[in-house]
Amino acid sequence: MSQSVCILGVTGSIGRSTLKVLEQHPEQYSVFAISGHSRIQELSEICKQYQPKCVVVPSDKVDELQQLLKAQNISDIEILTDEAGLIAVSEHPEVDVVMAAIVGAAGLLPTLAAVKAGKRVLLANKEALVMSGDIMLQAAKAHDALLLPVDSEHNAIFQCLPQNYLQTESNGQPKQGVKQVLLTASGGPFLNHSLEQLKAVTPAQACKHPNWSMGQKISVDSATLMNKGLELIEACHLFSIQEQFVTVVVHPQSIIHSMVQYVDGSTLAQMGNPDMCTPIAHALAWPERIETHVPPLDLFVHSQLDFQAPDMVRFPALKLARQAMQAGGLAPTILNAANEIAVASFLQQQIAFLEIPQVVEHTLNHVQNGSADSIEKILHIDQLARQVASKRITELES
Ligand code: NAD
Ligand code: MG
Repeated sequence: MSQSVCILGVTGSIGRSTLKVLEQHPEQYSVFAISGHSRIQELSEICKQYQPKCVVVPSDKVDELQQLLKAQNISDIEILTDEAGLIAVSEHPEVDVVMAAIVGAAGLLPTLAAVKAGKRVLLANKEALVMSGDIMLQAAKAHDALLLPVDSEHNAIFQCLPQNYLQTESNGQPKQGVKQVLLTASGGPFLNHSLEQLKAVTPAQACKHPNWSMGQKISVDSATLMNKGLELIEACHLFSIQEQFVTVVVHPQSIIHSMVQYVDGSTLAQMGNPDMCTPIAHALAWPERIETHVPPLDLFVHSQLDFQAPDMVRFPALKLARQAMQAGGLAPTILNAANEIAVASFLQQQIAFLEIPQVVEHTLNHVQNGSADSIEKILHIDQLARQVASKRITELES
């Protein structure tokens, strides 16, 4: 039977790759709902090609979308708006699968709604899990949702863990013979830059990732290594392990997407060409496998694989994220909120590259941590941290 898919953030890099996978399997999947935020022309073209039943946009974009749809003679698509619209399509009874591919905290409530409605949730939006952690996982358990990792590293770890690993009880220690998780990092575009060189890097340079083509925010996060920090937190939640069992390994070629080490000396790795269509297809079809256009790995071409430890002096963001995970409670939410504000300011050339982790550290030191036991608390501290980070940026500018 065909599965009905909702793609939150369809105009983004992950959203587009999702469409690419789905269109190879028209008998198995249909696009029921999509959302976009700013690229409305592109969104209308996606509506024409995929004919979803519903589309979600911000309310101030409805007129623009309606005109574009009318010009293409499309009249049978329901337009929903804002966060309420995103939540409505995420929990819609006709939807089987939700791709959570909005960037940042804006994806939290729609993703949580999909989980609470018991959907198969393909999680790309790591910020949502960094913020909500236990709440998201408990909701998945309580509502029988399948929360499957799309982030390439987490998808790789999921593939290397024992089959029933997530179904058995956990106390934060690795179990079933697992010793530790090795989270690989490309090191980003500035892997070999000196501190002096890092002072002057531009947004355009930061967004030019050597191996992956991604949205701007995650590209900057990859350049600071905050992306790996967020992924460390993501891994702790997804696989119920404490942070000391997650080791970050810099692997510049991005061929090994992550590894799991076992007590008997085995290390299992998942490898492939760096293309997000692979983890998307894996999460869509799991436990089955479906075709993608991704060419098989040619090991004679990729004959050299390198590994090194991350440098916490040039890339302090990773250390801040580890500390936030150790502190627990609301600290990951504070870290994430400050980082979202700092990255947006860097992209607008208001602060320098090395000031991104400084703003995050300042915010972590000036917002009181507490327990993350409700979504209301998480959303409140998220707003507070954004204010503190913005104020710090104003101080840095003056
Ligand atoms: P992107 O910037 O290309 O796309 C983001 C999408 O979110 C767009 O469709 C945009 O319209 C929508 N959006 C932005 N702000 C919004 C808001 N306030 N409200 C509603 N919608 C909004 O980003 P991306 O690279 O596709 O990344 C999406 C998510 O997936 C991020 O959380 C990222 O960390 C994660 N991710 C991406 C990759 C990748 O290869 N691109 C890999 C792993 C994880
Ligand atoms: Mg990743």
